[in-house]
Amino acid sequence: MIRIDLHTHTNHSHGNDSVTAMFAQAKEKKLEVLGYSEHSPRPLAYAYAHEYRDHLAATFKEYIHSVQALKKNDAGVTVLLGLELDYLPKEKEFMNEARAAWPFDYIIGGIHFLDKWGFDAKSSDWSALSLQESFAHYEHYFHVVHSLAESGMANILAHPDIIKIFSVNRFHTWLKQSSSLELVRMALNAVKRNGLAMEISSAGLRKPCEEIYPGPEIMSIAAEIGIPITFGSDAHSADTVAWGFDELADYARKYGYASSVFFQNGVMHERTF
Ligand SMILES: [Zn+2]
Ligand SMILES: [Zn+2]
Repeated sequence: MIRIDLHTHTNHSHGNDSVTAMFAQAKEKKLEVLGYSEHSPRPLAYAYAHEYRDHLAATFKEYIHSVQALKKNDAGVTVLLGLELDYLPKEKEFMNEARAAWPFDYIIGGIHFLDKWGFDAKSSDWSALSLQESFAHYEHYFHVVHSLAESGMANILAHPDIIKIFSVNRFHTWLKQSSSLELVRMALNAVKRNGLAMEISSAGLRKPCEEIYPGPEIMSIAAEIGIPITFGSDAHSADTVAWGFDELADYARKYGYASSVFFQNGVMHERTF
C-alpha cells in the first residue's frame, strides 16, 4: 500500500478544500506522510485565462502557517511543507526567491508553461496545432525538463509527461521516434545525476489523456536508470487525496519498484509500498 501522498493543493490556490480538510482525508485514507505542495507565486508575464494568482498571494502566509501547525498533529501523520514550483527557465531569480521564502521540506518542479504559454489549460489550444507543431512542443518540453533537472531547484520532477494532457495519441506517435526517446533519456539522466526523484501521478487518469503520468516508455527508462520515485495524487479537493493509489502501486511494481521516497527538510527518506 502507498501511504505517502506528496502532491496536494488547497483552496489557497485553485483547489476546493482547506488545509485541515485535506488532512482529515489523509487520516481517513490512513496515510503516514502527507505533503502539501501548493503552487508557487508566478511572475506577472506568465498567466492563465482563469488566474488564481491574487488569491494565492493574499493567503500564502496563511497556507504556510496552517501546514506548520499541522506538523504538530497527534494523529501520527508526518506532515510536510512543500511547494510546487512553476519551473520557468528564464526566471531563475524569481524562483530562487520563492524557494527561499519559507522553510520548505521539498520542492516539486512542475512545468506548466512553455515560454509564456500555459499549455495545460485548454484543449482547444492543442486541437488547433499541426502534427509538426505538436512535435515541436513535446521537444521543447523535454528540453525544459532537462533544464529543470540541471537547475538544482527541485527535489522532485512533477507529472513527467504532462505535455501529453490534450494530445495523448500524438504524443505516443512522437515517442516512437528514436530521436524522441534519446531526448527523454537525456532529460531523465539529468534527473538521476542531480539527485531528483520522479513523480508517479494519478492526475493524468483524471485528465483527457486518461493515462498515469508518466507513460510506459518513460517508466521503463526511469527504472533502467534507477531514478527514485514519489507518489502524488495532485489532489485539488479532499476526495482526491491518495486517489488511484492502488493502481499506481501496481503500475510501479510492474517496472520493478518496491519503494518510494519523500523529502523532509530536504533529506530523502525511503519507504516500501
Ligand atoms: Zn502541476
Ligand atoms: Zn499540482
